[in-house]
Amino acid sequence: GEAAPDEDAFFPEGAPLSALPALPVDKPLDYLAPPGGVRAGDWVEAPIGPRRALALVWGPPSAELPPDRLKPLARRLDLPPMTPETRRFLARAADYTLIELGQVLRLASRAPGLREAPRMRRLLTLGPERPERMTPARRRVIAFLEAHDGMPFEPAELARQAGVGPGVVKGLEAAGALSARLAPHDPPFARLDPAFAPPALSPAQDEAAEALRQSVAARGYATFLLKGVTGSGKTEVYMEAVAECLRQGRQALVLLPEIALTAAFLDRFERRFGARPAEWHSAAGDAGRRRCWRAAASGQAQVVVGARSAVFLPFRDLGLVVVDEEHDGSYKQEDGPRYNARDMAVLRAALGRATAVLASATPALETWANARAGKYRRLDLPERFGPAVMPRMQAVDMRRHAPPRGEWISEPLARAVNERLARGEQSLLFINRRGYAPLTLCRGCGAHMGCPHCDAWLVEHRLRGRLVCHQCGHSRPVPKACPECGRADALAALGPGVERLAEEARARFPKARTALLSSDLAQSAEQLKARIAAIAAGEADVIIGTQLVAKGHNFPLLTLVGVIDADLGLKGGDLRAAEKTFQLLRQVAGRAGRADRPGAALLQTYAPDHPVIRAILSGDEETFWEREAAQREAAGAPPFGRMAGVIVSGPDEARVWRTAEALARAGAALEQAGAQLFGPAPAPIARIRGRFRVRLLVKAPRGAPLQAALRAWRAATRPEPGVSVVIDIDPQSF
Ligand code: ADP
Ligand code: ZN
Repeated sequence: GEAAPDEDAFFPEGAPLSALPALPVDKPLDYLAPPGGVRAGDWVEAPIGPRRALALVWGPPSAELPPDRLKPLARRLDLPPMTPETRRFLARAADYTLIELGQVLRLASRAPGLREAPRMRRLLTLGPERPERMTPARRRVIAFLEAHDGMPFEPAELARQAGVGPGVVKGLEAAGALSARLAPHDPPFARLDPAFAPPALSPAQDEAAEALRQSVAARGYATFLLKGVTGSGKTEVYMEAVAECLRQGRQALVLLPEIALTAAFLDRFERRFGARPAEWHSAAGDAGRRRCWRAAASGQAQVVVGARSAVFLPFRDLGLVVVDEEHDGSYKQEDGPRYNARDMAVLRAALGRATAVLASATPALETWANARAGKYRRLDLPERFGPAVMPRMQAVDMRRHAPPRGEWISEPLARAVNERLARGEQSLLFINRRGYAPLTLCRGCGAHMGCPHCDAWLVEHRLRGRLVCHQCGHSRPVPKACPECGRADALAALGPGVERLAEEARARFPKARTALLSSDLAQSAEQLKARIAAIAAGEADVIIGTQLVAKGHNFPLLTLVGVIDADLGLKGGDLRAAEKTFQLLRQVAGRAGRADRPGAALLQTYAPDHPVIRAILSGDEETFWEREAAQREAAGAPPFGRMAGVIVSGPDEARVWRTAEALARAGAALEQAGAQLFGPAPAPIARIRGRFRVRLLVKAPRGAPLQAALRAWRAATRPEPGVSVVIDIDPQSF
């Protein structure tokens, strides 16, 4: 790839070198070393025009400019240097994703305020002197410190704990009885104890855990697919890999798909290791992110639990990466720089002699195929832990049981819910649609309520009293009259959303306590956690929820899952539709019957013979994956071939199309590398936030040098003003 990072070359003051700014530049720029000199991997401030940017010393200069034309770096920053492993990983990540190298460095330094000196705090310990004048209050302070065996305290904390006023502590310090020192403001993360509370594993769990422990202890590279139904103990097993990593003195990273899930996970982590890990996600706040970043970089943080972007943290020595629910779509960053955190995790492990664990009940087809091909080692946990068994799966054929117009709960499903109500058990009604209704139209003139900025309908959210665009977030009050023809009371809601389903459930089961769970209702992670805990404790009989409930939550009283529209994801021509639907339905159905009560799942479908529905009903997963893989292989789609999506977008439709057509004409550069170009065609959503979107698709055989060809191809065409060209390697939809 691009400039390979130089291990740890030293550059004395004034020596030419290259440094990479954390900005969208595609290669390091040349500078002169600042006073004191620097090493490759040191963080510096680099002048860029009139500004100074956070930058990383990369290696020798590219020598495009003579040294007398180079500017000196402003200064070296007091941050832990980035290891050669991480630098190599960033370079390879940029190479693979086609994200500019400097942009990848920006992903690795997204903690605000890194350039500021760390804030310090004053800590007090017992000093050499004893005060001449002793008082009972002074004696309490000294006795308190003696009882704590040299442990330092902040002045206010010391006064509070010793039960004296702040003046007492101040007086003791003035008298030389206490001595002060400065320490970084951020407290270090508590030490984790691998032996704090190890579980007693079942034989199957222990076998899987042992394979992971051995790999971590071997300190080489390996990727595992840890496959097991929900509740089989995957988390329990990969925690044993974390424990081994702690024993090895290396760091571990656990990626989770949803912030909403972290709260329960962190509690569980603390029960296992006696303390909490460092956290990395957007809700952690600036200070929290800065603290986590520094501790990851210095090696002080032993374990980081985080969202997808944590994969770019500059760890000191990463020995293990776990990607939980590895198939989850949220690992794919779809805005700005595009990458899949799962693939980055595997790349990182490969370059850092680490173990990667991809855990899932329903792996991505790519992962399944990589395991079958022997690139990943597969570990199976076939059974649920303890007495819990997998739910019984049944279809409700909606061609025979369709409810009246405007209703969505069929008779068989209603009966099953009533049985649960009679037994005091919980039911979940699942629909993967937020809001009240996906479409609002005027019965008078036929007008649909659309978003002014997007090629999308506005979705009614009745609880908020607004029509909302799910693409751009634009919203407006629900109008009283049709904005087109002015007729009052003619607007009609079409189709079901989760709010409407809740309304129907309340009417249908009037004695039941219902609870609505949807991501746009939950105000904060804390509130969501409390709500989920209340539901788990039995404060609801019927839960009505979106995708949010499909993941990770444990509802021990839940014995019935009703999927309102099992066919929802199967419409449309997407090659991944079957895979995604299979994963979602399995996951939702898996919510039922986790404890000692057997569960059942009812899938309302108009296509009970569809291969996805049949695979769910029969539980014959391997046949389903084989069939999917065969189709994917026939289409030359990933993982059997290589693919890149190209989105051309801009506010001026004609310019967007002209740029797309110019790219298509330049396609010869791709064909030389064995790649094929398809398109241009309007993107599935042809306008978002006022930008028109046109798509091209590039396909190549597995061994083809796709990235190099794409780079040359992109560089050969100059986009028209205002038009951007974004390349998406391994797109989610194709
Ligand atoms: P998964 O990650 O596969 O969904 P979990 O690790 O969350 O499974 O396990 C499901 C439930 O069973 C959890 O409540 C967990 O604490 C419990 N469990 C799993 N294995 C064990 C074990 N060996 N000992 C005690 N509890 C276990
Ligand atoms: Zn919109």
